[in-house]
Amino acid sequence: MCLFCDIVAGKIPSTKVYENDYVLCFKDINPVAPIHVLVVPKKHFDDMNGLAADPEGALYSAEITKAIAEVAKISGVSEAYRTINNCGEDAGQTVKHVHFHVIGGTSLTEKLI
Ligand code: AMP
Ligand code: ZN
Repeated sequence: MCLFCDIVAGKIPSTKVYENDYVLCFKDINPVAPIHVLVVPKKHFDDMNGLAADPEGALYSAEITKAIAEVAKISGVSEAYRTINNCGEDAGQTVKHVHFHVIGGTSLTEKLI
């Protein structure tokens, strides 16, 4: 079991923002912005590559996309937010269960791309 599987299973507490059959969305424990929510599929995929390669990847990807927009709406940042996925250690991935950072509530002018 990984950290996010334990959070999905309720073994480790989290501050839930949104949940359905496919995703759990909760506040990042170390926020980098006033709004910083993690969108996590309830099924374990190691990373973006694992998500893309899985037979259920398309289903979960669609649910993740909808959940990202829903989280932004619930958080009141629909008009301006940033979604980040880190794939691989050298890209900054520290938790090996694919997840998407939804960040907002402040000026997001600093651009990497
Ligand atoms: P990444 O570095 O892209 O793998 O993102 C992992 C994120 O998980 C980091 O932003 C951490 O702050 C966050 N995180 C780690 N442990 C917890 C936890 N128990 N509850 C909520 N967020 C966490
Ligand atoms: Zn996991």
